[in-house]
Amino acid sequence: MVVAMKKLEQIEEIEKRLPGLDCGSCGSPSCRAMAEDIVRGDAKEMDCIFKLRDKVTSLAEQMVELTNNNKQGE
Ligand code: SF4
Repeated sequence: MVVAMKKLEQIEEIEKRLPGLDCGSCGSPSCRAMAEDIVRGDAKEMDCIFKLRDKVTSLAEQMVELTNNNKQGE
């Protein structure tokens, strides 16, 4: 019972971090189903194409910033 409650909490926490578009692009029919898959260990948050896009954008911005910082130090 405690384990089930803990899993439910995890599902709800993960679901809040997902975009809520229920687009199905990750292979799960909804963001809620995706959160359940993640808790079961059958998926990762980065399987969401929107989360992946945000991560790639963030990494690209960090690389540009690093490059600019290195150029200033030359
Ligand atoms: S790809 Fe992302 S937004 Fe679309 S259903 Fe999956 S978790 Fe939700």
